[in-house]
Amino acid sequence: MNIKITRKRIKNIILKVNDEGEVLISAPLKVPKEYIEKLIKEKEEWIREKLSLVQKRKQNSLTYNEGEKFIYLGKEYSIEIKNSQKEICQLSQDKFIIYIQKNTLENRKKLVDRWIYENFYPYIIDLTMNTGEKIGYLPSVIKFRNMKTRWGSCNTIKKSITFNHQLYRKSIVVVEYVVLHELAHIPFPHHQKSFWSFVEKYMPDWKERRKLLKE
Ligand SMILES: [Zn+2]
Repeated sequence: MNIKITRKRIKNIILKVNDEGEVLISAPLKVPKEYIEKLIKEKEEWIREKLSLVQKRKQNSLTYNEGEKFIYLGKEYSIEIKNSQKEICQLSQDKFIIYIQKNTLENRKKLVDRWIYENFYPYIIDLTMNTGEKIGYLPSVIKFRNMKTRWGSCNTIKKSITFNHQLYRKSIVVVEYVVLHELAHIPFPHHQKSFWSFVEKYMPDWKERRKLLKE
């Protein structure tokens, strides 16, 4: 969670989640840090609810229209709409061009999702298989779906890995971390020390990457 604590000359602690998905806490000067941490824990469910609402609003507000930014693997591209018989998306140096005949939000979204399916899915599947080979644990199946609170999950019994469809927006170093993290759950179905040492063996800078993921 992205939490910002500001000390102010006030009497009570004020907790809010803004439209950017930041958790803002204003606290009186003398309130101990532990007290604020305890409050955050107590209010965690409420905070998570608010964050998921912000996320939903953000996703719903994507219009895939001219001038809007399309984010792919952490890089921003300006969306350009071009009238065309053949409906297809194209990524260039700094543009994401949508060639479209029936220019409606629904159709744009369909074309963008198709592009992600044709470009991002093969990319992350390759990455997962290559990483799996390197560490000696391959998944039996790789799935994708929209998930609200997680970037990936691993069913260790079935060796099935699921990635969040929204992962295409994250930078490559972050995607690599999510891939290794989920694969590492095949031998280590927990987050104990042995799991993290295994991750660290193959990705010494996993902590920085995880930080980027949470941003
Ligand atoms: Zn995990």
